[in-house]
Amino acid sequence: MVIRRSAAGILIGISFLWIAQKATQGEEKTAIHQCDTRPNIVFIMSDDHACNAISTYGGRLAGTAPTPNIDRIAASGIRLDRCFVTNSICTPSRAVILSGQHSHKNGVKTLVDAFPGPDSGTPNVASILQRSGYQTALIGKWHLRSAPWGFDYWKIGPGQGKYHDPFFIASTDEIPYTTKVRGLGRTKGYYTDLVTDYATEWLDQRDTSKPFFLMLHHKAPHGKWEPAKRHQDYLKDISIPEPDSLWEDFSHRSPATIDKGTSITNRLKDRRSMVGDVQKPNWYGGPVEMAGMNEKEKGQAAYQKYLHQYLACVKAVDENVGRVLDYLDTNGLKENTLVIYTSDQGMFLGEHDYFDKRWIYEECFKMPFVASLPNRIKPGTADQQHLCSNLDFAQTILDYAQITEAPEISQMQGLSLKPILEGTPPNSWRDAVYYRYWMHLAHHQIPGHYGVRDSRYKLVFFHGLPLDAKLGAGVFPPSTAGWEFYDLQQDPNETNNVYEKTEYASEIRRMKQRLLDLKIEYDDRDDQYPELLKLRNQLWDDSSNE
Ligand code: CA
Repeated sequence: MVIRRSAAGILIGISFLWIAQKATQGEEKTAIHQCDTRPNIVFIMSDDHACNAISTYGGRLAGTAPTPNIDRIAASGIRLDRCFVTNSICTPSRAVILSGQHSHKNGVKTLVDAFPGPDSGTPNVASILQRSGYQTALIGKWHLRSAPWGFDYWKIGPGQGKYHDPFFIASTDEIPYTTKVRGLGRTKGYYTDLVTDYATEWLDQRDTSKPFFLMLHHKAPHGKWEPAKRHQDYLKDISIPEPDSLWEDFSHRSPATIDKGTSITNRLKDRRSMVGDVQKPNWYGGPVEMAGMNEKEKGQAAYQKYLHQYLACVKAVDENVGRVLDYLDTNGLKENTLVIYTSDQGMFLGEHDYFDKRWIYEECFKMPFVASLPNRIKPGTADQQHLCSNLDFAQTILDYAQITEAPEISQMQGLSLKPILEGTPPNSWRDAVYYRYWMHLAHHQIPGHYGVRDSRYKLVFFHGLPLDAKLGAGVFPPSTAGWEFYDLQQDPNETNNVYEKTEYASEIRRMKQRLLDLKIEYDDRDDQYPELLKLRNQLWDDSSNE
């Protein structure tokens, strides 16, 4: 029976409390079975939303482009300042979040790998929740090349989705799942608004006797950036602050990266440049008039155009987060709902003269993560210490759903963040996170690499090999290999690669061992890539500090 929300839900809650107070311990167990009071879970994820564009993180844009609604979650709960993605790109990150496994384990290393199906044995947090009695729904961006599973209901925008008058396909439609839009009708409206409409409609009709798990995934602020019509003039005439590293001198970089990646300002002539792109119609919302500008002014104009478009897309996301929070408030759901806001990875907003993501560098490696659950997560807190990851999201959600016995959990590689979120961290926590990007030179000229980050240092090995046909062999040539090492305490913006500095020799040796240990721990040993192992062994001790 479908019971309408709010009043009925509150009544059930009050009745249950009374029953629970009166019941003996044995009767209580029966009552819990009959009325499942485990927390609801609303998991809101945007696409390419950098911490630097969320005001609770206090970055350079906090005053210019605040996000008051995402900040509301942090104010009533917690903000994680050290949450990192395992592989900074859309499709793989989504697969990690569902499975609790690194890309090499769940098989989704690239944008074209399909998430394994229900018979694959691959863990899927939604499926486990569904089996345990949760109602599950996925609304918005999916971006995995296989049909969603583990959801009672899904409604998604195929592929990347469109900002304006988008296409959607739903589990209740009579056509099978597709990643193509051919044959689908367009829906009038703006993607970010529509998915919130669909989410609240689903919440309206749900079975209130069960807890729910809602994944609400925005397309925004992924490029190409097309703001809602109401935000076309957002921050008009406001000059967006530039990051310190927009005009970085790259001479500190290893030969592996010095000429790689896409540039906003066009300072490195062999890079693809946003300056060139923004002069073309239909790229970032239309051309920028650059006639009469010198090279630096063109770079500044390209940066301004990019940030204006991006932040206007963020504005609609923030408004719609507010709509969801208001819905939970007005329907009596706030007290028993875990709300999470995150993004599939971070994003460069001009740092290192980059846009896009994929690199291990901080701005796209770091994920936003704020969460609230009244009486469980203390309001207004922030964890600046513990190294967290999207690898942990599935186990965290299952922990809150009180699911400990599912056999798939033993196949997951993360940790539950629940003790971190609730301010009771264990004495022992991970001391480093492992990162790997596989799509060698496939987009934005970014070479294949892997690395390790601990609380102070970051070590990266750019192997520069495509490895196999799926990863670009035969299409993209090898690029120069190299190591980089950053002391994040001394150099938080990573503008001083110290790999060849003798004073860091012992720390580099230690981090190399840590990297090897993590590769063994996560079972990413590269035995299938003998040329990579050979190269790594050749270069292992090549730094001048040895
Ligand atoms: Ca993304």
